[in-house]
Amino acid sequence: MENAALLRAIIDNAIDGIITIDARGQIESINPAACKLFQYSPEDVIGKNVSVLMPPPDKEQHDEYLGRYQRTGHAHIIGIGREVTGLRKDGTHFPFRLAVSEVKYSGRQIYAGFIHDLSREKEAEHQLKDYAAHLEELVADRTQSLRQTVEALSQAKEEVSLSLEKEKELGQLKSRFVSMASHEFRTPLSAVQLSASLIDKYAQPFDNSNITKHVARIKHAVGNLTGILNDFLSLEKLEAGRVEPSFNNFDLVKLAEEITEEMQMLAKQNQNIIYQHTGISHVANLDANLLKNCIINLIANAIKYSGENTFIEFNTEINAAGCHITVKDNGIGIPEADQKHLFEAFFRAHNTGNIPGTGLGLNIVARYASLMNGIIDFKSNVNKGTLFTISFPIL
Ligand code: ATP
Ligand code: MG
Repeated sequence: MENAALLRAIIDNAIDGIITIDARGQIESINPAACKLFQYSPEDVIGKNVSVLMPPPDKEQHDEYLGRYQRTGHAHIIGIGREVTGLRKDGTHFPFRLAVSEVKYSGRQIYAGFIHDLSREKEAEHQLKDYAAHLEELVADRTQSLRQTVEALSQAKEEVSLSLEKEKELGQLKSRFVSMASHEFRTPLSAVQLSASLIDKYAQPFDNSNITKHVARIKHAVGNLTGILNDFLSLEKLEAGRVEPSFNNFDLVKLAEEITEEMQMLAKQNQNIIYQHTGISHVANLDANLLKNCIINLIANAIKYSGENTFIEFNTEINAAGCHITVKDNGIGIPEADQKHLFEAFFRAHNTGNIPGTGLGLNIVARYASLMNGIIDFKSNVNKGTLFTISFPIL
């Protein structure tokens, strides 16, 4: 019959497995797809109970359904498929969806099972689950490490604020000491200065050159000490925020000429300070006292750190962009490695040898300049010279 051949062909070529069993559960037919899934040949299974294709507990359950059916005549029909596990010939398991339909055929009852392999779907599902679990783990890990970081941060914050507190206390103690010491040192220093002057005066009749020389030394040393104390006091005032610039219009050229004259007296043998101004205007709007202090510091450095028989170029310029002050020498220069620390208090470059100094001058200059909205900068080459610039933009 042509119809039967067609049906056979359809069943043989079905992608899903098809197994038919009789009312006692014995396998009557199995199609190639089912054979492939269970790894059996038809001869292996036909006539055997279908439970050979089931691992426990499905097998036990099936046996129970079968028993009940045989007792009561009520079949357990699975209409829409449910997921069950298959047992292959080699003992391995695989998941599949099973749909069973009851077929009445020439007075006999046959059950057809349709087997749809779920191995791939399950594998993908597993992979997804694994992936999700892995993600969850990752998230948990990250959360944990974040929590640790946050904890470490808050601890560090506490430590920092604690040490800041200590630093502040120390700073207050230091500045109180510095101002106290500076004031207390002043009185004995002026006594020394006065006595030196008196010695000089009373010794004059004896015309002893040694006395004159030593008195000059004492006066020089007192001058140095007073300078250092003044720096300490300026620094202390700066630290305490007690330096308030008062901006006024003044004649910059006049101030510069006074400073040049004053500093020329302190210069070394044949060291010449050359002053020059550029620009039509002579009027600057800055704090003249602070500016004078800055320029004196820069020229004092140029004198100190360059040799005899040299020129120190001191320039001022007022143009549309602002006011510029430069001091240039051709002295010992500043080693490159030291340059980045130059404006730190008490810092001195390594090539200063026995040239005296405390390393406070530039720190004060930089702070005064910035109080007047100025910027200090420099260019320097060892043994070639140094150029300092202070620029005040017109605001
Ligand atoms: P003081 O506090 O007495 O001025 P100081 O001159 O050592 O002491 P700063 O004026 O702050 O201190 O200068 C810091 C350092 O910068 C100096 O010790 C020196 O090493 C370097 N320096 C400053 N000006 C010059 C310069 N014109 N040439 C070479 N080195 C310089
Ligand atoms: Mg100095």
